[in-house]
Amino acid sequence: MPQTRNRRTGDDSGTAVNNMVGETAVSVPRFPVAYASAWAPSARRTRWVVVTRCPFCGAGHVSYAHEIERAGGLRRPGCRPGARYWVAVARTYTGEVAE
Ligand SMILES: [Zn+2]
Repeated sequence: MPQTRNRRTGDDSGTAVNNMVGETAVSVPRFPVAYASAWAPSARRTRWVVVTRCPFCGAGHVSYAHEIERAGGLRRPGCRPGARYWVAVARTYTGEVAE
C-alpha cells in the first residue's frame, strides 16, 4: 500500500501541492504560495503582524490577525486586483518589533 499522508489543513509548511501523482480528485488550491513571517502580539500590540512575501510583486505585504491560526490562508494582494495567493506562515517571532 502506498503511504499517503492526508493532511490538507494544519500544515504550515506550504506543501499542499505535494500529491500530484495520479489522483486528481483532491481539490488542491491552485494559488501561488506566499511565505509569511508573523510577529506575536506584544504589550503594545494586540494582533499578530504578518509580513507576506508577495509572489506577484516581490514586496512584503503587511496584514494583521488576532489569532495565528487566521494569519494564513487565501488572501488577495493589494498590488494586483483579482489575484490571490495562499499565505503559509513559515516563521513566527516573539518579542518586540518596531513598527
Ligand atoms: Zn504584491
